[in-house]
Amino acid sequence: MYYPTDPIENLKGVGKWTGENFKKASIKTVGDLLNYFPFRHEDLSVIQKISEVNVEDKVVLKGNFKRISTFLTKTKKRLTKAKFYDKSGELEITWFSAPYIQSQLNEEDTYHITGKITKFGNKNTIVNPQIEKSEKTTAHIGRIVPIYFNIPNIYMKTIRKSMLEAVKNTKIDDFLEDLEDFMSLNQAYTEIHFPTSFESVERAKDRIALDELIHVKLHSEKQKQINKKLKTNFNTKKDYSESFIKKLPFNLTKDQVSSIKIINEQLSKKSPMNVLLSGDVGSGKTIVSIVSAYNTLKNKGKVVYLAPTVVLANQVYKEYSKFLSEKYNIELVTSQTNNKKFKEGIKADILIGTHALLNVEGLSEFANLVVIDEQHKFGVKQRAKIIESTNPPHVLTMTATPIPRSMALAFFGEMVVAQIKTKPKGRKLIKTKVLPESKRKACYTWIKNEVIKENKVYHIVPFIEVSEAENFKDVKSVEEVYPKLAKEFGKSKVLLLHGKMKDDEKNEVIAKFKEQKGGILLSTQVVEVGVDVKEATVIIIESAERFGLASLHQLRGRVGRNDLQSYCFLFASNDQKGNATRLKNMEKENDGFRLAQLDLENRGSGEIFGIRQSGEVDLKFVDFKNTKLIEQATIQAQNIFENPEKLKKYTANYFTRDFFYIKDN
Ligand code: ADP
Ligand code: MG
Repeated sequence: MYYPTDPIENLKGVGKWTGENFKKASIKTVGDLLNYFPFRHEDLSVIQKISEVNVEDKVVLKGNFKRISTFLTKTKKRLTKAKFYDKSGELEITWFSAPYIQSQLNEEDTYHITGKITKFGNKNTIVNPQIEKSEKTTAHIGRIVPIYFNIPNIYMKTIRKSMLEAVKNTKIDDFLEDLEDFMSLNQAYTEIHFPTSFESVERAKDRIALDELIHVKLHSEKQKQINKKLKTNFNTKKDYSESFIKKLPFNLTKDQVSSIKIINEQLSKKSPMNVLLSGDVGSGKTIVSIVSAYNTLKNKGKVVYLAPTVVLANQVYKEYSKFLSEKYNIELVTSQTNNKKFKEGIKADILIGTHALLNVEGLSEFANLVVIDEQHKFGVKQRAKIIESTNPPHVLTMTATPIPRSMALAFFGEMVVAQIKTKPKGRKLIKTKVLPESKRKACYTWIKNEVIKENKVYHIVPFIEVSEAENFKDVKSVEEVYPKLAKEFGKSKVLLLHGKMKDDEKNEVIAKFKEQKGGILLSTQVVEVGVDVKEATVIIIESAERFGLASLHQLRGRVGRNDLQSYCFLFASNDQKGNATRLKNMEKENDGFRLAQLDLENRGSGEIFGIRQSGEVDLKFVDFKNTKLIEQATIQAQNIFENPEKLKKYTANYFTRDFFYIKDN
């Protein structure tokens, strides 16, 4: 029997080397492993008769090997052959360069094998099949098997074997009782890894989703309780925003105006506000925060703006400076700036920065309004650091994550929700196309024209380096694509951006991309959040099937930021049908909310989407259409919250504690 907190090496079958590699992938305990969920399942449960197989079928067979022999071919390659037979017939099996296989197979043992039937000469055969000795409970074949994301240096087989061992022998306690419509937690963990049917995978996800939602709801209840008691000594006496809005170079949209109104009303109260401003990418949230900041400053308050990355902090600093630097002193605080000067007190009206801000002494006394951009990038503790103060500030949280209104009200009960639903006038819809590989040349020719017209192009790839792993070998990387782009467009036109670069390097690249006339930015997903380059008119996304629709939408939001026609081109790693159908949604839908919904509806297709709906927990499994789930979570959370015994049991449970771990990183 294992406990979830047991170190990973305690698992039977996990040796030192495998243990080390698990740890490198952040799987340090048995519990960590159990929380390493499969991204899909494959049905290898139906065992076929050998007499009934056809060429090109992917089959699962059960039988014995005989006449195993290894020999050299004319071209000096090692070839191993055997017959595999069941009651209905026999089939030839072929291995290339795998002489060890002969010593591993035993004619007396029964095996499950799986692979594709191909023609070799005029005979049917399976080349290099997956093989597993038949036992009572199999991990790999003869069942619905879990498919996990690759862990470097660990075979999928090892992940599965370890997982089966963990699932079968770990003490998974539940903290909920009398759940009529849900599985127990133990059963849910068993079924999500090694399901008895596809239907039960869904039910397992729902049980884990229930935990996720209970957590959010509990957090919201706790926050509500804390907020009730809070008083602040800053509130606005007069609303100055109207005159400021009049001087802006553009007209605000109706929703921007109403959001500003909601915020200003909250700012005038003596209890610190907690507003959630949600709006699709490019809907213009920044300017709403600037107006609120101005109103705060005019009322003699001080403002702090927390951005998720150095690149964005710089961008926001410039944007704020444009509108406010004439009258107010704005300071940028990142790991790149000299922050020693704050030791003698903060001599500024506005501080804009990243996490580095949190180390500025006296910050929580300084701030009257704190703006938090893209909430999910900040942990609760970090936020608490500046919010928990003798003089708690007003807080404006901004997010581009689409949150259904019902969801927002049920689970962000402690917040006032403002929403921007429409984009500024004059924006053209971004034309989106899923392109087959055969159109790549044409696409490049077309981009060349854009660059000549001095427009800018984003070229997005998922990886930095070429992956060695079999299941990732088609996934595009910076390393693979850069030389091709450099050759096609000239080195000077192609800029590089990725997560391994230092923050100041990233800044330089973005600044250069903004300044230069025309050009291509080859980048990983680091540009997803918030980067605002007005002249960008094209975004190409490679291996697009690797992204959720919501993420693709965020990426697409990098273009179409002026009144020029913009384009988004999607390439899939391979032309599999499933990919194309899902991606086609991007051609039809321009609404982030609808796309997030479609992501969720796709759940059944086996993909698990990591849409982060709150700062506290990854809501990996929540299906927002499932009203029963939301209802149950609300009831259960209320129940736990009001009952000290239950609350204790809840907080002591490893699997709920795990949520608390997530929120802190
Ligand atoms: P997001 O909501 O994604 O953070 P931004 O605040 O970055 O969006 O705004 C996107 C762009 O739209 C910015 O360049 C901003 O200056 C511009 N913008 C914002 N509001 C308006 C408006 N009402 N009319 C025209 N342009 C606007
Ligand atoms: Mg933004």
